[in-house]
Amino acid sequence: MDLFEYQAKELFAEYGVPVPKDKVANTADEARQIAAAYAAEGISKVVVKAQVKAGGRGKAGGVKLADSPDDTQEKAGKILGMDIKGHTVHRVLIAEATDIESEYYLSFLLDRANRTFLSICSVEGGVEIEEVAHTNPDSIARIPISPLTGVDHAKALEIVRAGRIPAEAQEGAAILAERLWAMFVDEDATLAEVNPVVLTPDGKVLALDGKVTLDDNAGFRQDLAKFADLASTDPLEAKAKEKHLNYVKLEGDVGIIGNGAGLVMSTLDVVAYAGEEFGGIRPANFLDIGGGASAEVMANGLEIVLSDPAVKSVFVNVFGGITACDAVANGIVSALALLGERGETVDRPIVVRLDGNKAAEGRQILHDAALTIVEQQDTMDGAARRAAELAGTGSARTPKGA
Ligand code: GDP
Ligand code: MN
Repeated sequence: MDLFEYQAKELFAEYGVPVPKDKVANTADEARQIAAAYAAEGISKVVVKAQVKAGGRGKAGGVKLADSPDDTQEKAGKILGMDIKGHTVHRVLIAEATDIESEYYLSFLLDRANRTFLSICSVEGGVEIEEVAHTNPDSIARIPISPLTGVDHAKALEIVRAGRIPAEAQEGAAILAERLWAMFVDEDATLAEVNPVVLTPDGKVLALDGKVTLDDNAGFRQDLAKFADLASTDPLEAKAKEKHLNYVKLEGDVGIIGNGAGLVMSTLDVVAYAGEEFGGIRPANFLDIGGGASAEVMANGLEIVLSDPAVKSVFVNVFGGITACDAVANGIVSALALLGERGETVDRPIVVRLDGNKAAEGRQILHDAALTIVEQQDTMDGAARRAAELAGTGSARTPKGA
């Protein structure tokens, strides 16, 4: 899970990594109030920073200095709602502005290829590290970190010296590195990047930006929920996540349910292809119900897909394996009954293609159930075409049967 800068900096502060004083604002008016409170404390200059999970905010106009509460409000108003690399800005961070003498780069990351951790440090910070790697590769130090010994003060000094950070900033940068490493380990991060680490004219070293990725696999021992981004999460995706379904909302009209990520991916392709004939009909979602397509999982899947008002038809594409088609067919029949019991109206046509293990049995079960909204197709292409056609005309119709 990637964190916003403000969340990364909250973690930094917890571990004693020095950061400027800051506060999040959701509106331009809130931004002004924060700046006014700062002004009352004698802090006259602030920086207004777009909170999006994308780098290069500065270049995109998402980081602006402001010198009064009114100015802060105006700049926050401009930044809020901005689109930065496809991310809408819902919040801004109002931080005390820092005077910058020099900008450096420091990060810790999981080095999968070498089965260890790595620190990257450079005296050239503030610009993207990929750019430095291109223009001045010699200024970048890559120091492997043993997970057994980690980063103590001596190791931290080794890192900052290797990155050619000048003498006057070495001690401060090393302390910052040690504490950042403590956070990295304790929070189960796979990336902690500070770009820039800055040296101020009065000799302080602090983290002016922060990018942290936490390991979702460590979720069982960490509280990741507190970092959830509710403003940017699609409500259907959030609901699917609650039900442990692999669902991604897309922009089209045909709801897709399949078993196995690969099959679902190719289903998206065939539906998009077939949909061209019907005026650009496209898949409405990705939903992989996985191997064990029980009635409950199928019901949950159908419920999520059908609660998307954009969905005009549904394509259930199943290749029977360990979970055979007869079990899936029974799953579909019970799922529709279950949805009825839950008070959901299932009013859009569902095209089902069953193939693989016990396909004939599965088709027979659906045929015998004679559900008016379910129609079967023998092939994936045929089913994709039919689902696209139904979405195009929008007409629920009588089933063809098996
Ligand atoms: P990014 O563009 O998304 O990486 O956002 P950063 O937080 O790294 O900010 C980009 C650049 O804005 C930094 O490299 C600094 O040069 C500048 N900047 C950010 N905060 C301050 C500040 O408090 N004072 C000054 N003078 N410059 C800042
Ligand atoms: Mn940065």
